[in-house]
Amino acid sequence: MSARAQLQYLHDELEKLKEQKLYQKLRVLAGEQLPVATFDGQRVINLSSNNYLGLTTHRALKKAATAAVKTHGVGSGAVRTIAGTMDIHLALEEQIARFKNTEACVVFQSGFVANAGTVQAILGEGDLIVSDALNHASIIDGGRLSKAERRIFRHKDLKHCEEILKETENHAGRKLLITDGVFSMDGDIAPLPALCELAEKYNCIMMVDDAHASGVLGRGGRGTIDHFGMHGRVDIQVGTLSKAVGSMGGYVCGSRDLIDFLCHRARPFLFSTSHPPSVTATCQAAFALLDSPAGEKLIKKLWSNTKFFKRRLKRLGFNTGASETPITPIIVGEAAQAHEFSRELFKEGVFAQSIGYPTVAKDKARIRTIVSATHKRKELEEALEILERVARQLRIL
Ligand SMILES: *Cc1c(COP(=O)(O)O)cnc(C)c1O
Repeated sequence: MSARAQLQYLHDELEKLKEQKLYQKLRVLAGEQLPVATFDGQRVINLSSNNYLGLTTHRALKKAATAAVKTHGVGSGAVRTIAGTMDIHLALEEQIARFKNTEACVVFQSGFVANAGTVQAILGEGDLIVSDALNHASIIDGGRLSKAERRIFRHKDLKHCEEILKETENHAGRKLLITDGVFSMDGDIAPLPALCELAEKYNCIMMVDDAHASGVLGRGGRGTIDHFGMHGRVDIQVGTLSKAVGSMGGYVCGSRDLIDFLCHRARPFLFSTSHPPSVTATCQAAFALLDSPAGEKLIKKLWSNTKFFKRRLKRLGFNTGASETPITPIIVGEAAQAHEFSRELFKEGVFAQSIGYPTVAKDKARIRTIVSATHKRKELEEALEILERVARQLRIL
């Protein structure tokens, strides 16, 4: 059999997706990730990026990136544990630890590997993970890699969570209670104070994935732990450098021992090359900005845009689910309908990505909107007008 025949099944699977109208072509961005940007050759109001504060194109960050290229080159040349730990890598980690008010920090290549690498490293066979049903894929994959037993509680359901913790009270191994801080598809916030209490009552390690809260919630964007005043009660805080921070990467904050251990056992730290200097310098500039009055101003603008946009969507009669953050879904039901809504919106000048099964439940397909601090009011008004018009055409409203 030829090699092509061996992969025929992939072709068949793709044909099936096309028949079900679930096949999606990648939208291609020309130029910078801006609030109004050119995708597939068309200028659209961009409601699909995680660039909450507009930092992907911020002058100070660009300047830091190019300066680092001059002083440190374009690549790190090795994994962290061999020759790939640069002075600026350590400086960024110290800066983030100070910012988050924790003993120590380690930066990974992405938020995805920060989660997966951490969960895999700290747990093993015989241990237990108690996880929210809507936690991010990287947490699920980390759990699988760890070989720990996994128990899932219904989304934000504290009663169900406690039932599981009671049932497993005499579990011999270690226990990890883990939640996203802000849930990426619904934009709702985890009930962190109650979860911390449960973790304490049932002797669990407490871990929060704050990818969508970094740069968004808490003072200067310090995340959900700061938002709820839970300092010292969460053992492991994960954040991303790829969303509001505007660059790429993930970090873990916690005790010195935790971070030391991850530097010896987290596989992405040991087996994958560290960030190029430009990425690290970009993040240093981003945290300096977040920690300044200019950063505060950006976060304030993000929230005033968020409140304006949400209020108007609700007034139009859209189902925005349980969202409490700049991530605002418009739930329409079937995946095919969500995809059609998104395609028609795009033609009219609004880019809002549709999301269907398996990323969200089968009957909860949606388009997802994210406003940023850099959207002008006029642009949001125009987006709302287009959303209303297209939704009426498609009988969504
Ligand atoms: C985006 C996201 C990640 C992954 O972060 P990257 O830096 O993009 O790899 C992890 N967890 C959650 C909840 C996310 O939304």
